[in-house]
Amino acid sequence: MLADLRLVSLPLRQMEKFDHTYIGTGPISAIDACIKSKAGAKVLMVDEKAQLGGAWVAINVGHYGRLEIGCHIWSYNKEAYDFLQTYFDLDLIALAPQPFFIKGKTRLIYDHKNGLTTLKNSARYLKQFNFKKLGAYLRHHPAARFPLIPKKYLYPKGGARDLQAAIEKKIAASDIATAMQTKITTLNKVDNGWELHTDEGESYFTQNITLTTTSAVREINYQEKSIQLRHRYLNYTHFHIVVKDELLKPCSYIRVLDDKIIHRISDITYQLETKIDEGYSVILVGVFDAELDKLEVEGSEDEVATKYIVNYLVNKDFLAKNPSLAYTQKNKFETTYIAQEQVDAINALDESINVMATTDLIYGVYFKLKDWETTT
Ligand SMILES: Cc1cc2nc3c(=O)[nH]c(=O)nc-3n(C[C@H](O)[C@H](O)[C@H](O)COP(=O)(O)OP(=O)(O)OC[C@H]3O[C@@H](n4cnc5c(N)ncnc54)[C@H](O)[C@@H]3O)c2cc1C
Repeated sequence: MLADLRLVSLPLRQMEKFDHTYIGTGPISAIDACIKSKAGAKVLMVDEKAQLGGAWVAINVGHYGRLEIGCHIWSYNKEAYDFLQTYFDLDLIALAPQPFFIKGKTRLIYDHKNGLTTLKNSARYLKQFNFKKLGAYLRHHPAARFPLIPKKYLYPKGGARDLQAAIEKKIAASDIATAMQTKITTLNKVDNGWELHTDEGESYFTQNITLTTTSAVREINYQEKSIQLRHRYLNYTHFHIVVKDELLKPCSYIRVLDDKIIHRISDITYQLETKIDEGYSVILVGVFDAELDKLEVEGSEDEVATKYIVNYLVNKDFLAKNPSLAYTQKNKFETTYIAQEQVDAINALDESINVMATTDLIYGVYFKLKDWETTT
């Protein structure tokens, strides 16, 4: 698919002038870029990675095909689901059972967690007698809800692989230029726009720039102001575990709150492209690497981690004792988050630069719907 894209990382094109440039090719940036390009803007998308899609990418997992790199879930919002299903022509399925939090023997489905969070936030505004904020929160924030009837949490049938393929298809069908494996480190405001620079001496010129909360730009120079960005680094580590067993009880996506190493588990057997033998299961598990390193157990890091994860799944009665392991693979995905006060400082510079709120994909889409619906 990458072969179809208009690559612009050739030196002589460095000062090609763009109307709008996006740092990163995550889903929300890709949609916004395609909509602007369709409206006639000359758009460039830059990404330090070789693949489009940001955190929503798939990797090869042994001979089990391409599967998503990390445990993923879509928060609940019907409007955002409808938009993504139509815009990307995605086959969405309802995750069953509904995703839940687990702590010891306690399970809390996402709906109820949402209700509790809404209660907690409402109580906070009430305590501050901040009725205006309370009203705005309850009316406008997609997470503010008290679901009485359980909601269907939708997700692409092929997981992040489908979303990534849809992004590639949209961009290939557009006039968007891309510069992949290119890391922008510095943004300089100049008279009629912005210059973007890499440490390797590449530069691009654009009228407008869109970053996201994960854009790892080092410095933004605006008139006499110079913003040195502070980033929170997160190194997501996941294990794909294939067992020749069926799970004893179904799980779609679990947020684990009772373990110092494991933080997420998802059963992604349904995402397999290639039919594997009956009775196999593919489990994706998110772990805190630093805690794993503290384990003083014999064996290679991956063996130790796999053993720890399988024990957890057995102890939680998801797997029968001594399950037969078919395959295990570890992967890492580094991401960064810009501190909120710096996001506000950048958005306060002027309209030619903005940082989109994207840390939650579905809520990020929800907050952009009005813009997109007026432009499409
Ligand atoms: C492993 C993982 C699991 C996640 N799971 C979920 C989930 O289940 N549900 C959910 O809603 N959200 C999840 N997220 C949060 C995720 O960040 C958002 O869903 C969404 O992808 C954010 O969009 P984005 O475009 O800001 O960032 P990303 O999707 O991370 O894309 C940003 C892209 O920009 C590139 N980039 C950054 N800085 C530069 C630069 N200076 N120059 C060039 N390229 C640059 C990055 O390499 C990356 O490819 C997860 C994130 C990760 C990393």
